[in-house]
Amino acid sequence: MGDLLLGNFHPIRVQTMTTTDTMDTLATVEQSIRCIHAGAEMVRITAPSKNEAENLLKIKNALHAKGYHVPLIADIHFTPNAAEVAARIVEKVRVNPGNYVDKKKFELLEYSNTEYQAEIDRIRERFTPLVSICKQYGTAMRIGTNHGSLSDRIMSRYGDTPLGMVESAMEFLRIARDENYHNIVLSMKSSNPQVMVHAYRLLVVQMLEEFRECYPLHLGVTEAGDGEDGRIKSAIGIGTLLEDGIGDTIRVSLTEDPEVEIPVCQGIVQRYTSRRKEAVLGDTTNGIEITSLPYSPFEYSRRETFSVLNMGGKYVPVVIADYLEEGTITPEALAAIGYNYNKDLDKWNIGDAAADYIYTGDKLINFALPGTLKVLLNYKTWMLTNDRQSVYPVFQLDEFMESNNFSAAVNFLVADVQRFKLMKHQLIPRIRESKNLVLCLESAAINSMQQMREVITELMEEEIKNPVIICIETKNKAVDDQLIHFATEAGGLFLEGMGDGIWLWNNMTETEQIIATGRTYLEVKNNNQFLNNTAFSILQAVRTRISKTEYISCPSCGRTLFDLQETTARIRSYTHHLKGVKIAIMGCIVNGPGEMADADFGYVGSGPGKITLYKGKEVVKRSVNADVAVQELINLLKENGAWIEPEVKNSLTFLSSSA
Ligand code: SF4
Repeated sequence: MGDLLLGNFHPIRVQTMTTTDTMDTLATVEQSIRCIHAGAEMVRITAPSKNEAENLLKIKNALHAKGYHVPLIADIHFTPNAAEVAARIVEKVRVNPGNYVDKKKFELLEYSNTEYQAEIDRIRERFTPLVSICKQYGTAMRIGTNHGSLSDRIMSRYGDTPLGMVESAMEFLRIARDENYHNIVLSMKSSNPQVMVHAYRLLVVQMLEEFRECYPLHLGVTEAGDGEDGRIKSAIGIGTLLEDGIGDTIRVSLTEDPEVEIPVCQGIVQRYTSRRKEAVLGDTTNGIEITSLPYSPFEYSRRETFSVLNMGGKYVPVVIADYLEEGTITPEALAAIGYNYNKDLDKWNIGDAAADYIYTGDKLINFALPGTLKVLLNYKTWMLTNDRQSVYPVFQLDEFMESNNFSAAVNFLVADVQRFKLMKHQLIPRIRESKNLVLCLESAAINSMQQMREVITELMEEEIKNPVIICIETKNKAVDDQLIHFATEAGGLFLEGMGDGIWLWNNMTETEQIIATGRTYLEVKNNNQFLNNTAFSILQAVRTRISKTEYISCPSCGRTLFDLQETTARIRSYTHHLKGVKIAIMGCIVNGPGEMADADFGYVGSGPGKITLYKGKEVVKRSVNADVAVQELINLLKENGAWIEPEVKNSLTFLSSSA
């Protein structure tokens, strides 16, 4: 692509997309330059019609005149004629196979084999000219499937499934191969990291089976939103695949300025760059060969466990708050993990994102805790206490092997997976007979997610059914990097159905994090709250424990018809207490409705100053004046029983700010 090499063990490339009007040459050039300075190796620009496609030449020339030569990508939906113009100008065109030829009607149609084949023939007829132009001009192409915009044809046969996404891209890829055109990248994006991960894995298998070779892959989670949720969702989806060795270029789609996406991309990629270096230096813990799996990596199923108290079995994953570094623990200190103490009423107010356990090391808590919060103490200190109802022991491996004193309720065994592997022949029989034991697995290895997955896979093969808590420490100081680390390490395992709880720590104060971060875009006000919210956000992103409203907001582009960042923040300020409700905020009516995928309600720009409101995929209010559209959205939530009055004004943990 231009001079940039992609795929085949070249570095993982980072890219973003402009949000300016493509006809505004100056604004698009200036924004592209900001992205390039931030480190973008490719810049994508929307080309909704021939006019914008033609204007790409002016943009490209202006960039070249200023000395910027990064490859440009034209983003095409619905308009083959725009693609055919753009392919003569820029280094790459992106087409969406869900809407390149098909006009989606959101209808569930029945297709006979003949009708289905007739549509494929029609695609061949419309798509082949673009392929010829790309071949002639040396232009690359991304066949970019989106979960939310599959054609009616694909939906009729496969539904909106990962398999449908794969087939949607394969139809186009087969045509391109028939034309002997191979300058291709593919993507399988979804706002749901689970769907996205399964689709990419299936695509790799399908390509290998059909062609015995793979094309490079562009990874991304669409409509990931903003702030910590956007970073977490993206890192889970992209990171899980990079852990598998899948992915050649990435884009993190945030509802923030596009240059802000680049450091997040770099944070994700950096993990694998340094890993490669260590592999070259001979670190043998890098890379694990797995020859068989006791579960399917193409669909979600939770590892089978028995329950111990509220862990494992059918219980949602628990959250363990780490207060090891806290000084004296007071009732007020628990507000950070969802427990607000009202001194006057002597009552606890428990939030939706309230931790289930608190680990204090050797510190005793000298006040009555709410019933839903239990304490974990180091084993030797636990032995000195009398409370056997709400205080439980945490064993290290040697203590566990040697001890005869256990809690009748629950015992936690903290084990580094490397040591676990070394001791497994003694450990596994002992664990097998411990029916009230919860394993807390941690790893200091550079590929710790893979190491943990290997051990949990082994537990599955051994039919060990004790619950497992995923324990992750980060040594990163930058807040964005911490989110990426936690989300990739823990999120990937939860996507595999492997976690019954999450325990995060970073051994630092909020002040250390702010001082240490030269390029942070998120600030931490309270470290305990940061860790607790991150844990709940990871569980929400992998859809294993829902504790808050979910926002599916597009990153915006040249098609956007309103200030998406400001509107998203406003909608969030009114609706953040609606646990479990999924609200989509989309910039345009052309792609928005399709891309919203599984949102419950949608707020979609439908013309200058106009908004269309959706319930699911159904339009309920058209062309609402933007001034009253947020209120109308609230009315819609009320009419559909999705609204509850906010109880207390929540203080937000994170400040979103552009540095
Ligand atoms: S949904 Fe958003 S990002 Fe996608 S095309 Fe429309 S405005 Fe652009």
